[in-house]
Amino acid sequence: DDNAFKEQLPALLEQCAKLAITRIIVPAIAPDNFDKVLNLAKTFHNKPISIYPCLGIHPWFLQGLNDTHLELLTEKVTQTKNEIIAIGEIGLDGAIIKRSDDPEAELAKQQHFFDFQLNLAKQQDLPVIVHHRQSHDKNMPFLKRYQLNKAGIIHGFSGSYQQAKGYLDLGFKLGVGSTISYSRAKKTINTIKRLPLESLVLETDAPSMPLSSEIMGVEVMAKDVLTNSEQAEQEKYPAPANSPVNLIKIFELLTTIRSESAEEIACQCEHNIEQVFFT
Ligand SMILES: [Zn+2]
Repeated sequence: DDNAFKEQLPALLEQCAKLAITRIIVPAIAPDNFDKVLNLAKTFHNKPISIYPCLGIHPWFLQGLNDTHLELLTEKVTQTKNEIIAIGEIGLDGAIIKRSDDPEAELAKQQHFFDFQLNLAKQQDLPVIVHHRQSHDKNMPFLKRYQLNKAGIIHGFSGSYQQAKGYLDLGFKLGVGSTISYSRAKKTINTIKRLPLESLVLETDAPSMPLSSEIMGVEVMAKDVLTNSEQAEQEKYPAPANSPVNLIKIFELLTTIRSESAEEIACQCEHNIEQVFFT
């Protein structure tokens, strides 16, 4: 739904299809983009791959929002129960709290929105997509309180084995993204190496969370599958910092970290995502 992809979306989805990426999950971030995310899923269903929407309010976008927006979310979720696959992206962001003029008020507001949306997920029996940044300790008590049936995804996971284990014990799976492309992310890489394969799913968070520049040299592989006209089309617009096609790169990196075969990792990741969202 990001404007960075606006012009080239059909070409991008074609490119994904060629790389055997068949499903893209697109969470909402604020009431402003609820309809956009829902329409995207309708427009591109099976054309040539499918987009699955989630509705939620991200902790970065709470400014100017109040309970009316939470009511609107509830209404939208109820109306689109058969279209959306999760509540997300929701969570607490420690960095935003820290840099706020009034950290206590910011924390309280983030907690109010998070709590409300977890409760909504519980009511609707939907999984959640959870945002974290300097907030494992802050998120955890809320997730424990609600014990969601299908739990969900801790997206863009970075952290220790202990932190990961806490989420796994609640039934969550962890989104493996570009963090593993940074050699300085040793703690996270070691965590991903040790966790059960049953707990991992792949993500890009595009256009956010770009891969490290050491890795991006290999990005040409995505271009290799484009026809000349598609390539020309793509060159007309500046490339976003990250793209769904980089999922393949993240998968390849994961195969270098894990001991299992690429085949086994691919099958298990697919099974994991199936389990959370599509059963
Ligand atoms: Zn996030």
